[in-house]
Amino acid sequence: MDSITPEHRSWNMSRIRGKDTKIEVEVRKYLFAKGFRFRKNDKRFPGKPDVVLPKYKTVIFVNGCFWHMHEGCKQGRLPKSNLDYWREKLEKNVSNDKLHEQQLTEMGWNTITLWECELKRDFEGTMTSLINTLQQNGQSKGDQP
Ligand SMILES: [Zn+2]
Repeated sequence: MDSITPEHRSWNMSRIRGKDTKIEVEVRKYLFAKGFRFRKNDKRFPGKPDVVLPKYKTVIFVNGCFWHMHEGCKQGRLPKSNLDYWREKLEKNVSNDKLHEQQLTEMGWNTITLWECELKRDFEGTMTSLINTLQQNGQSKGDQP
């Protein structure tokens, strides 16, 4: 008699996924410390952005390179095993990302995507240029007809 249950195996798999959220927490902490106020994972916005800054009309996505197929990035490549499965799954993520950005633009919001590898390589530098962009977005808001 075989007593191994497939349910248990998939439970293990789901535990492994959804673990790498730490870098988003760092991004939020940094912005908060710099005086920015925001909402997180607001479900009313397409794609449930990690950070929503109403004052700057800007949303921020913090993307894992693997899950969002970061172009030209080592971590953004498809795995060699189960290729068809991963290709379908990850390409769907990417097309959703594009759709969400398009919908946000139509709603009059700016979208900024931060990549995990860039934050890991140069957190301070990435955040500094993010804040510059936010300030520009905040200024151009007043110029709208
Ligand atoms: Zn990357």
